[in-house]
Amino acid sequence: MAHESGGEGGESALAARLRAVHARIDEACRDAGRSPDDVELVVVTKFHPPELVEALAELGERRFGENRHPEARDKRAAVGRDDLEWHFVGQVQTNKARQIAAYADCIQSIDRPGLVDALATARRERPLDVFVQVGLSDESGRGGVAPDALESLVEHVLATPVLRLRGLMTVAPQHVEPARAFARLAELSADVRRIAPGASALSMGMSGDFVSAISQGATHLRIGAAITGERPMRQ
Ligand SMILES: *Cc1c(COP(=O)(O)O)cnc(C)c1O
Repeated sequence: MAHESGGEGGESALAARLRAVHARIDEACRDAGRSPDDVELVVVTKFHPPELVEALAELGERRFGENRHPEARDKRAAVGRDDLEWHFVGQVQTNKARQIAAYADCIQSIDRPGLVDALATARRERPLDVFVQVGLSDESGRGGVAPDALESLVEHVLATPVLRLRGLMTVAPQHVEPARAFARLAELSADVRRIAPGASALSMGMSGDFVSAISQGATHLRIGAAITGERPMRQ
């Protein structure tokens, strides 16, 4: 993928897609009266080989998102750089929590008390950044805590000092206007900040809806296909 050609002046197709996404992020920030410095890009590289992460790191990216163990662990080990930040964005099985906690810099998909407890035993000393994932629909399989159980889960995270709560994460439900879902997450974030003033991050926005997410206050975008190109099939 690093060697795909295309674009102008010998720029790779990957570099061209990355540049186009950054341009759209900058424009969306301008339109929303926000600084691009307040929006962090996590490039979701699931199913892609380590070489793609290396190529993106060469192009200046430092944050990467993965959703499956052990793919995430193996990729991190294969890339072998220590200047990258790895975000786990997929559902975490309780019996995998310890292993994921061993290599993830951030887990964005905290969705239940049992997972908090499992992570607490896994990472006793080295703090771990986390987001609580909120499910904004009844769609099964997307994960996330229901809004009415959010506050008690947040309290549980706050009672677990080794976990540093950064904020909330969501995946926009399929049948809802993304802007409405993102506005809802922003409202829930305001509630959460009454008990967790530092938890101000909002991880929302993917390839198809990141412009809308920026206008609703996203601080972390999780963008895959728009940058990486189509994902290879799951092995
Ligand atoms: C795959 C994935 C993304 C990226 O999705 P794209 O549509 O490829 O941008 C973002 N967040 C989560 C949780 C994902 O699983």
